Amino acid sequence: MKNKKASSKFVRVKCNCGNEQNVFGCATSAVSCLVCGTPMTRSTGGRIVVLEDKAKVVRELE
Ligand SMILES: [Zn+2]
Repeated sequence: MKNKKASSKFVRVKCNCGNEQNVFGCATSAVSCLVCGTPMTRSTGGRIVVLEDKAKVVRELE
């Protein structure tokens, strides 16, 4: 498996329901929780913003 360098990073986000998932830091659309469907982020100009009342950042993955 080739380790392709990406200029963008992923962010690990935890939903209020307890689900954790990796979110592409430069996603161009909102990301919803895969378990409960709650929107966890919104996109502003090519960078995501975590909705702090719905989810929180666990850690950032380079
Ligand atoms: Zn959830």
